[in-house]
Amino acid sequence: MEEIKTDIALKPDLTPLEKLKGPQINNIVGMSRNELQRSLKNIEPRPKSLKMRENQIWSWIYQKGIKTFDHMTNISKEYRENLKKTFAIERLKIEKKQISIDGTRKYLLQLKDGNQIEAVYIPEKNRGTLCISSQVGCTLNCSFCFTGTQKLVRNLDAADIVGQILVVRDDLNEWPYNGMPKDRKRKISNIVMMGMGEPLYNFDSVRNALHIVMDNEGIALSKKRITLSTSGVVPEIERAGNEIGCLLAISFHATTDAVRNTLVPINKKWNIDTLLTALRTYPTLSNSQRITFEYVMLKDVNDSDADAKRLVKLIAGIPAKINLIPFNPWPGSPYERSTKKRIASFAEIVNRAGYASPVRSPRGEDIMAACGQLKSESFKIKNARCKI
Ligand code: SAH
Ligand code: SF4
Repeated sequence: MEEIKTDIALKPDLTPLEKLKGPQINNIVGMSRNELQRSLKNIEPRPKSLKMRENQIWSWIYQKGIKTFDHMTNISKEYRENLKKTFAIERLKIEKKQISIDGTRKYLLQLKDGNQIEAVYIPEKNRGTLCISSQVGCTLNCSFCFTGTQKLVRNLDAADIVGQILVVRDDLNEWPYNGMPKDRKRKISNIVMMGMGEPLYNFDSVRNALHIVMDNEGIALSKKRITLSTSGVVPEIERAGNEIGCLLAISFHATTDAVRNTLVPINKKWNIDTLLTALRTYPTLSNSQRITFEYVMLKDVNDSDADAKRLVKLIAGIPAKINLIPFNPWPGSPYERSTKKRIASFAEIVNRAGYASPVRSPRGEDIMAACGQLKSESFKIKNARCKI
């Protein structure tokens, strides 16, 4: 018989502690299909109906967004009762929601252990992008990033990552079950892993979560609508291509190692040359799946014409687009945003070299929701308390 590693509730013999606390209820959100199927075997051991059960449950949770087992109307009442004894459908809690004058929504979300993360929804004319987090805080401390000033608390698990999407879909009322016609344009059409944390330092959970997001019978977002941004964790880049296959964005930000060392300190470990070598062999790289180079525009630091020229030389041969991000200030930040004129001149050089060079218009600035402005306030308070 196959051993079930993830589900102590289903072990026939409970330990004394488990007996005292009662059986553990597992969050069904974030489980892979395999994990779900393995756990279901204990409820209904007849293998014939397992796949059907798995599909039914999967579709209720990820396609219709139901929050209780009672709503699974194509499953018998008796079976639903058994599901309730074994699983929970847990949601992250929206602790606070702020809506910017430009329509951007910033969510402060509470995790089960009380930690908090932020997610940002950015509506645009032809798409809606949800920016989600991969860690509480970040171990890296890029000098221009607000998240970097918060220490890492913990990695998110797959449930925390997928949970961000579920809860924002709830808030946007984007579940077909609530009457949304199937052909309606999606409110969340794109996902970017550009919130708090370094996704490639939490590889397994990010991969598992994105597999759930891409599953065709669930949330069903194409891998071409998901972008993972990394500061340059070189050893995991190839794996990201092979095991996730989504679009890749690189927080590049400088054209010499000396400057990149100060802006993105991970560069001291894997420098520009090492990073570019890894990118040239990124498994899914093609003209239709270009790499996005993110480049924050910092006044008098990395924004000269010479920088622009060096940049296009460095990335020559890589199918790419350059996303220029005007620096978003935060309380106490040591940099200034480049002038519009400077950004235009930089963009022009990059563009003439044959690369698209869109300037990202800052969104949700009035609510500190723009790139690099995310940080969970509660942690600072809790951390301060810990130090007392
Ligand atoms: N840790 C990952 C994912 C975060 S993505 C990474 O660094 O790639 C967030 C993007 O916003 C990154 O490109 C980051 O470099 C950029 N960013 C961070 N702080 C910023 C700021 N203050 N202004 C503009 N962009 C910023
Ligand atoms: Fe972490 Fe990315 Fe911010 Fe750097 S830019 S501190 S890697 S979240």
